[in-house]
Amino acid sequence: MDSRTIGILGGGQLGRMIVEAANRLNVKTVVLDAPGSPAKQINSVGEHVDGSFTNPDDIEKIARKCDVLTVEIEHVDVATLKSLQKKLPDVKIYPSPETIELIQDKFLQKEHLIKNKIAVTESVSIDTPSVNTLVSVGEKFGYPFMLKSKTLAYDGRGNFIVKSEKMISEALEFLKDRPLYAEKWAPFKKELAVMIVRSIDGRVFSYPTVETVHKDNICFVCYAPARVPDSIQLKAKLLAENAVRAFPGCGIFGVEMFYLENGELLINEIAPRPHNSGHYTIDACVTSQFEAHVRAVLNLPMPKNFSSMATSTTNAIMLNILGDEKEKNKELQICKRALETPGASVYLYGKESRPKRKMGHVNVVTSSMEECERRMSYVIGKIKDLPK
Ligand code: ATP
Ligand code: MG
Ligand code: MG
Repeated sequence: MDSRTIGILGGGQLGRMIVEAANRLNVKTVVLDAPGSPAKQINSVGEHVDGSFTNPDDIEKIARKCDVLTVEIEHVDVATLKSLQKKLPDVKIYPSPETIELIQDKFLQKEHLIKNKIAVTESVSIDTPSVNTLVSVGEKFGYPFMLKSKTLAYDGRGNFIVKSEKMISEALEFLKDRPLYAEKWAPFKKELAVMIVRSIDGRVFSYPTVETVHKDNICFVCYAPARVPDSIQLKAKLLAENAVRAFPGCGIFGVEMFYLENGELLINEIAPRPHNSGHYTIDACVTSQFEAHVRAVLNLPMPKNFSSMATSTTNAIMLNILGDEKEKNKELQICKRALETPGASVYLYGKESRPKRKMGHVNVVTSSMEECERRMSYVIGKIKDLPK
């Protein structure tokens, strides 16, 4: 399809699924991450780079092996990417390093969205973390409020819910030595997300608005489309499109938002890469989020409706398979029940089982959300027998 090679910074499950999508189009990919990482396991080319996406030399090494450099994670060394734009101008970098820089610091990201008139949760930078500072945040925002790390956050691992003044010292201890900001609590009815892909010529395509449910800060299930009125789905899509337009460059973006009790929509955060809330697209959409990204960064055709659901009656639920907390590999029982379930597809990422680690996901696709729910209840083990 294309003789250019895509280099991927990061070899986790998102990289692995980019590799799968690229393979189907016969597009070559090379990966920078630790040896044996999920994306490398399914891609036996010799030119992968063993190392880290935070190490300048390793990043330059992979840049020299590819025509287009992309990321599966935003926590990469942006200074190196910027210098490579000058040093190796023939290697294109998507998403643009400016975008990664604006997004990888969640507070900078918020300030940028506000500057672009995008509705976000109210927040304040905590430049001198102390009990007194946070007591005044509590007076301003009320309780609970969120204390968040500005950088290196994922799966809620940089977040602490401050439920009362008494928890302030615990919060400071939990997030010590990290750059912090505080965020007002968003009293949401639901969390929504929209995947958006932007082409090199600036066209924006959105996937359907979905609903994500988090448990302990980690995405648990995702309903596609979201079980909200059409008007809210549309409002979410427009908000997500406007938010993505505020960042330069092409590729896929995941936009997370809160749908508040009062009907308002606020952006939570944006990811400049494939996103957990877009895994359903592999089975439910004409083109998956991973293939959309490959097409975008290679400037391949992206026709009208390529990001739509496969049919007008397609409904899907995605379930994350997390490492069992008590018994190693016990989560595979869920996968086995999924294999017994019509309309279900199982994806395992090739990782060693650890408690709460994202090990894989299951998509269930049918023509009604009620039927998806029934089948997913069996997969999860909530009901014993598979529905007729
Ligand atoms: P990700 O894995 O999505 O990158 P993250 O570590 O960056 O996660 P956030 O997206 O900031 O973390 O928060 C994780 C979850 O915590 C959210 O999806 C939401 O359920 C909850 N949350 C975050 N901020 C708030 C808030 N201000 N009010 C209420 N709930 C919140
Ligand atoms: Mg995040
Ligand atoms: Mg998030």
